Amino acid sequence: MDMIKITINGVECVGEKGSTILDLARAGGVEIPTLCHHESVKRYGACGVCLVEGEGLPKLMRACSTVAADGWVLSTETPRVKAARQVAFELLMSDHEGDCKGPCSLNCPAGTDCQGYVKAIAMGDDREAVKIIKDKLPLPASIGRVCPHPCESACRRTKVEEPISIAYLKYFAADRVLKNNPYVPTPDAASGKSVAIIGGGPAGLTAAYYLALKGHAVTIYDAMPKMGGMLRYGIPEYRLPKAVLDAEIAEIASLGVVMKNNVKVGVDVSFSELRASHDATLIAIGAWSNMGLRCKGEELSGVMGGIELLRKVALGEDAGLGKNVAIVGGGNTAMDACRTAVRLGAENVYVIYRRTRDEMPAEDIEIEEAMEEGVTFKFLTNPAEILGEDGKVSAVKLQIMELGEPDASGRRSPVAVEGKFEILPVDNVICAIGQKVNVKGFEEVELNAKGIIAADERYFTTSLDGVFAVGDATNRGASIAIAAIGEANKAAAVIHGYLNGMPLPYRAPFVSERKPKDEFFDRFEKMPRAKMPVRPAEERRNDFCEINLGFSEEAARAEAKRCLECGCHDYKDCRLIKYADRYVVDAKRFAGVKHECFKEQRLEIIERDQGKCILCNLCVRVCREDAGKGILGLVGRGFGTVIKPEFRDSATIAVCRDCGKCVAACPTGALKLLK
Ligand code: SF4
Ligand code: SF4
Ligand code: SF4
Repeated sequence: MDMIKITINGVECVGEKGSTILDLARAGGVEIPTLCHHESVKRYGACGVCLVEGEGLPKLMRACSTVAADGWVLSTETPRVKAARQVAFELLMSDHEGDCKGPCSLNCPAGTDCQGYVKAIAMGDDREAVKIIKDKLPLPASIGRVCPHPCESACRRTKVEEPISIAYLKYFAADRVLKNNPYVPTPDAASGKSVAIIGGGPAGLTAAYYLALKGHAVTIYDAMPKMGGMLRYGIPEYRLPKAVLDAEIAEIASLGVVMKNNVKVGVDVSFSELRASHDATLIAIGAWSNMGLRCKGEELSGVMGGIELLRKVALGEDAGLGKNVAIVGGGNTAMDACRTAVRLGAENVYVIYRRTRDEMPAEDIEIEEAMEEGVTFKFLTNPAEILGEDGKVSAVKLQIMELGEPDASGRRSPVAVEGKFEILPVDNVICAIGQKVNVKGFEEVELNAKGIIAADERYFTTSLDGVFAVGDATNRGASIAIAAIGEANKAAAVIHGYLNGMPLPYRAPFVSERKPKDEFFDRFEKMPRAKMPVRPAEERRNDFCEINLGFSEEAARAEAKRCLECGCHDYKDCRLIKYADRYVVDAKRFAGVKHECFKEQRLEIIERDQGKCILCNLCVRVCREDAGKGILGLVGRGFGTVIKPEFRDSATIAVCRDCGKCVAACPTGALKLLK
């Protein structure tokens, strides 16, 4: 047998004379992208992504259909090859209508695979659900309870009736797994590298979890008596029982993460000492200072910040509230503060908010529940002055407001009604209008114009070598916990690269997205969203026990089954998206009219989503040449070409049963086996 030898990317590849470049590359373990190639059918060479360049050879060659000549020296990733391949993928993506991921996942700041874990819950596999969640988020039972769930705002089920209760489903699965069969992955072997994490809140704990899984020795230093940060000291017990948080923190500690509390950087240990004793340092200190009201009387006794109140209560300290308490602000911290004041025995609790309920940033459910618990909302009012007697708050003078033109946030801006005020007698004014960062102890790190730690948005690096920063303490300031968690997960990957001498920036994966028309949703039967059962207001307003009772198993499974499964079933295996991402394609470069077709072709056991089909013809060839059936064919010409069953009679469909070879061969998610 005559043998030949070629060199691809410096690797010697040997095979029989007459072999294609692709055959030899595969024999030598060199990867060349392909879409329309399949071992069981004849060479086709249509998709044009398997190009290679040869020394002394003028043209790029298709590896799948070019017979190799002995001695060739080839490269698969030259700039010319990459550029040509990128164009090939851009052309393919220009007529590709599909959602790689559901909008829920794309709108989650941590990128959790909502569709994946909702499906696992629907199938009754809670442990698998937690496994999926923990790929991005190590605190599912805690976050499932408190997250304002931006995923649900993007959920397409809203177009049918209401969004899937994604966050509470996470809470359901995480609680069951935590209680019955906790899931903690096994860490990699010890790397010999150490990381100091300053701050044990959601960001610090998340980074610790993912870095520990990579085998690094992680120590968290936190100023408070216990770990958890704002999840412990900024979220009341009735929303997040601390036993749940403790259990999830214990799971992180079980990975070998060392947790040191009551350590204030700049007091108990200097920042430079920490830097010097670890290979990398991550600052995740959060935003723990209150924004002031900037009105007269702010210095009076009885005025405090919303998070200061919540912290005191979490620490078991006397918050010193009187009978009449005013909370200023319209966000979730204001809701936490007013509902906490109710539970501490205040008789009259007011929320002072300068716009109307429609503009309130707090979650609707929080507002409703606060109202049920007896909180009075004074909309269109703003503190003009805090009045006092003997150095203590006695009342708040409220400026009456009205709504003017929309401001930069798109909400109508509050405008003072001249000369119109109201005096509200109160004992306390709690200011919950925002939080800022306290950078004391971190003076060496460069700040941005807002006085917040400046961190690179892709590398998470600061102005100091080996020092990274994430979360509320950086760039844009305070946000929701899941945003800090998302950053921490990405930063952990960058730090891991840094510790291995290869710091790669975070890059959002390329995904294909589509926008179904409203008619698409008509086909789905309306099913109401599951309601979280809660304790009655009269009972719950008297204690700090958890108010949610949790979904029953029946309710959770039914709720999860409402999911429309918007993302592609093939996302993890799809070669089109794998290469489109690798070659950083611009899907809009050749943008034009796209085929508009949603899952319109259904055989007995196979569903075809024509929008995702790239007309590689592989299914047709496999069906004919490998399966020996020839059921499928290309129909039409040019842009109008589609794959169709040639015959629609039942005899043909019967032939198709139990085959599925076309589905296995399809390089995209265009084909799906229905059972
Ligand atoms: S076929 Fe591939 S590229 Fe298309 S939506 Fe599915 S995963 Fe994304
Ligand atoms: S219907 Fe399911 S997959 Fe679609 S956005 Fe909602 S949760 Fe995600
Ligand atoms: S359905 Fe057939 S032609 Fe379309 S991408 Fe899949 S294998 Fe290729």
